[in-house]
Amino acid sequence: MDKIIYNFKNKTALVTGGAQGFGLDIAKRFLNSGAKVIIWDIDSKILEKTVKDLNNSNLSSSIVDVTNYKEVENCTNEITKNLNIDILINNAGITGPTAPLWEYDLDMWKKVVDINLMGTFNCCRSIVPTMIKNNYGRIVNVASVAGKDGNANASAYSVGKAGIIGLTKSLGKELADKNIAVNAVTPAGAKTRILDQMTKEHVQRMLSKVPRGRFLEVEEFTSLVCWLSSEENTFSTAAVFDISGGRSTY
Ligand code: NAD
Repeated sequence: MDKIIYNFKNKTALVTGGAQGFGLDIAKRFLNSGAKVIIWDIDSKILEKTVKDLNNSNLSSSIVDVTNYKEVENCTNEITKNLNIDILINNAGITGPTAPLWEYDLDMWKKVVDINLMGTFNCCRSIVPTMIKNNYGRIVNVASVAGKDGNANASAYSVGKAGIIGLTKSLGKELADKNIAVNAVTPAGAKTRILDQMTKEHVQRMLSKVPRGRFLEVEEFTSLVCWLSSEENTFSTAAVFDISGGRSTY
């Protein structure tokens, strides 16, 4: 099936964690739809290969750790010297290890929450003022069905993603009188590298809960993110959009 191409001409989109997986597919669809795209990722090797493979003059990238506010702020200032950031996709994330809460490594717990939740906060904190100045913005925060349901043996990840949902609801309301939309999406499992961080049994358990009976395809996810990021989305904000194949019916 052909995917819808949106009109993202004259728009600049920033995708965090865009070197691979969901973020990369979103970046590709934005580029195909006429946007300028900036990818921020912490993995320099994969980022370099991705940028080389895409070979697109509308694409630029930086190695950024979204948990480091100073780094995020410096890179934001660098971009906004020449461009508006119209679209922000807070997609960088890790699942961390699969373990019950009472055995969870203390540092890993903090790290998982830091990347998923504080990373999203840092990018919004740094970029929203420029969107306010331009009276335009579309922000999509990538949460997870884990943030709604709470996955056993993934407490840090579930907390980080639940936090993103709360942040989205607050920020969306704070910006509702402007042409800025802030929404969260809650995907079920898709076959990206992130699945390697979990045990096979955990992944199988996740899949068994999905009435559609299969993994989410990255292109299906991108389609939802693109509509939420488009000018066409003039009303929906502070909301949580489910894409869990029937798993979470609320
Ligand atoms: P992925 O591992 O393929 O991609 C995640 C990217 O984020 C990687 O390129 C990684 O280098 C980058 N990243 C990690 N820490 C970072 C940091 N501190 N700063 C900047 N970049 C960083 O995983 P994915 O499946 O594409 O995941 C994308 C998002 O989707 C994540 O937030 C994830 O939690 C969410 N998600 C994924 C699934 C799934 O099953 N794939 C399901 C629900 C939600």
